[in-house]
Amino acid sequence: MNRVLVISPHPDDEAIGCGGTLRKHVVEGDQVQVIFLTSGEKGGHGCPPEETRRIRERESEAAAQVLQIDGIEFWREPDGAVQARSSVVRRLVDKLETWRPSVLYVPHPLEKHPDHRAAVRMVRQAVSNSAGKGSRPEVWMYEVWTPMPTMDHIVDITPYIEKKLEAIRVYRSQCDVLRFDDAIQGLNRYRGEMHSWPGGDYAEIFTEMRV
Ligand SMILES: [Zn+2]
Repeated sequence: MNRVLVISPHPDDEAIGCGGTLRKHVVEGDQVQVIFLTSGEKGGHGCPPEETRRIRERESEAAAQVLQIDGIEFWREPDGAVQARSSVVRRLVDKLETWRPSVLYVPHPLEKHPDHRAAVRMVRQAVSNSAGKGSRPEVWMYEVWTPMPTMDHIVDITPYIEKKLEAIRVYRSQCDVLRFDDAIQGLNRYRGEMHSWPGGDYAEIFTEMRV
């Protein structure tokens, strides 16, 4: 049994970037927890930040139920202004040392969204600061806004694509504006056909962070 920690800058990144792989972990008996760095309060499309935060946190709880994720945390860093501040890096070091995940997921460093790039810096610092080299998690980086030009790891998510899309569609406040479900189904289909052959129809890809 692995403990798997996901760093999701906003509610929905976890489902879009690695929802199929997370579902696979759960089905295989691993424990999965997600840390939402922000609650996406700036992404209300006209709805005020406080209300948007409430809505998006509720949506992420529902998405976690779809994927059967064990636990989620809201760290409520400022949406659009995430930084690898020392206090939040320390908080992450604490999480690594107490819960001791063996696998960690975070977006990749070429993502166009600055919060996603800040999350990468935060993870890099926390993992290199955490005690005991041998207990450091493997870190796999996922794609959301910017497709990756290279990959180290390909996961066939064909058996989990429907659950993944269901989890994404739970984020109604976002999918009503942008069809993330359609977009990521296309990207995962492309990965499956072009990169996972002779794997399956749908795949998620990852690059490894070497700390
Ligand atoms: Zn995001």
